[in-house]
Amino acid sequence: MKVLVTGGAGFIGSHLCEKLLTLGYEVFCIDNLFTGSIINIQHLKKNKSFTFIKQNINIPFDIEVDFIFNLACPASPIHYQMNPVETIRTNVLGTLNILELAKKYNARILQASTSEIYGDPLEHPQKESYWGNVNPIGIRACYDEGKRAGETLFYDFHRQYGLDIRVARIFNTYGPNMAIDDGRVISNFIVQAIKGNSITIYGDGSQTRSFCFIEDMINGLVKLMFNSNRVNPVNLGNPQEVNIKYLADEICKLTNNNSKTEYLPLPEGDPVRRKPNIDIAKSILHWEPIIDLHTGLVRTINYFNKFVNKNEK
Ligand code: UDP
Repeated sequence: MKVLVTGGAGFIGSHLCEKLLTLGYEVFCIDNLFTGSIINIQHLKKNKSFTFIKQNINIPFDIEVDFIFNLACPASPIHYQMNPVETIRTNVLGTLNILELAKKYNARILQASTSEIYGDPLEHPQKESYWGNVNPIGIRACYDEGKRAGETLFYDFHRQYGLDIRVARIFNTYGPNMAIDDGRVISNFIVQAIKGNSITIYGDGSQTRSFCFIEDMINGLVKLMFNSNRVNPVNLGNPQEVNIKYLADEICKLTNNNSKTEYLPLPEGDPVRRKPNIDIAKSILHWEPIIDLHTGLVRTINYFNKFVNKNEK
C-alpha cells in the first residue's frame, strides 16, 4: 500500500514517515523544505520503500497512492506569519490540490487540522462540537482561518464526491526533530536553557497550553487513518494543562539551569487557555497519550543536547 505524506520532512511528518515504514507501507514524502529539513529524513532515505520528492503542494502534481496525510504547512506562529499570503495559499490552494489528487485515485485522506481552529476559545476544555472564537483579520488568521477553510474543503469533498476523509485536530505537540529555530515555546525554552540564555516568557506566563509528546501524537494519527471510520473531526492532544511559567521552571530544573527570565510582550491574538477534550479519541480510537510532560521533556532535552552549541549565544 502506498502512502503520501505532505510536509513529510517536518517535525510531525518525519516521525510519521518513519512509523509508516515500520508498519510496512511504501512512503512518498513531499516537502518544499520551507520549515521541513532533509536532516529529519536522512536516515529514511536508504530504505527502498521511501521516496522523497521536493515539491510545493500549491503546484499540482500527480502520484498514485492509496492514503494521503496532508501535513504540509508551517505550523509555528513565527514561521506561518513570515509569509502569511503563502500560508493561506498552502491551506486553501494546496489543500485543494491534494484533495483533487485523493479524488482522482479514490485515496483516503487525512487532514492535519489544528486546535487553532478554536482560536482564543471561550469553551474550556475544547470539544470537537465547539465552533471556536477566531479573529478573521488578526495576524494568526492566515493559519487559523486557513485551517478552518481546509476543514470546509474536506467536508465539501466528502459530501459532494463521497471522498473518504479523516480530520485530526492536533493540539500542541513537541519532541525530537523540532528545529532549533522553530520558535515554539518548548524548543525555545530548552535551547535557551542549554545555552544559558534568558528564558523568554511572553506576557506574564499565566496562559496555558497542553503539550503532547510526538510518539503519542503519531500513534493517534495512525489509528485515526487506518483503524477507524470516523469522518467527523477528532481532537488529538494531551489534556495535561500547564501554564507557561510552570513550563519555564520545569525546563530550567531539568536542564540544571539558572537562566534569568525575561518577560516580553504577549503576541497579538495569543490564546489564553487551551486544553483538548479527548473523549472521542478515547472511545473511538481507544487512544490516549501515555507519555507525561516530565518524561517527554527529558527525552526532548536529551535530543537538543546533541544539537545545540552551548557556547554559541
Ligand atoms: N511563548 C513564550 N515564549 C516563547 C515562545 C512562546 O512564552 O519563547 C508562549 C506563547 O506566547 C504562547 C505559548 O508559549 O502563549 C505557546 O506558544 P507556541 O508558539 O509554542 O504555540 P501556540 O500554542 O501559541 O501556537
